Amino acid sequence: MSDGTLNVTGGCFCGKVRFHATGVRAGVSECHCTTCRKQTGHRYATTSAPIDTVEIEGGDNITWFSASPEARRGFCSSCGSHLFFEPVGGDHYAVLAGAIDAPNGLHMARHIFVESKGDYYEIDDGLPQFEGYDKPVTSSV
Ligand SMILES: [Zn+2]
Ligand SMILES: [Zn+2]
Repeated sequence: MSDGTLNVTGGCFCGKVRFHATGVRAGVSECHCTTCRKQTGHRYATTSAPIDTVEIEGGDNITWFSASPEARRGFCSSCGSHLFFEPVGGDHYAVLAGAIDAPNGLHMARHIFVESKGDYYEIDDGLPQFEGYDKPVTSSV
């Protein structure tokens, strides 16, 4: 596609859930918020795709958990792999980058919710950083 979107396959670690997605954004956002770090053990790296372009096989094996009223998070009931984040009433899934099969054309693009990042690491890869989803963080250097 001309807008830089990708056509990918992916799934959970155990293979009970598989998906095929077209229209996947190439740039990956890494979320540093407390919820994401609790749930995954560190950070939550996602791209996104319009829901109507994502075809899921084995969807019965997905557990959906609402960490907040705004969205629900889908992970494999069997192996625990995080797969999707679905804003309530939204038309896009955030798709976990690690669930997508390689090679895939993805690249790291930005850091979000950096104001609540863990105190045990620094973000020093030079990629853009944002408070929340989109408030640019100006460097103090
Ligand atoms: Zn699984
Ligand atoms: Zn988060």
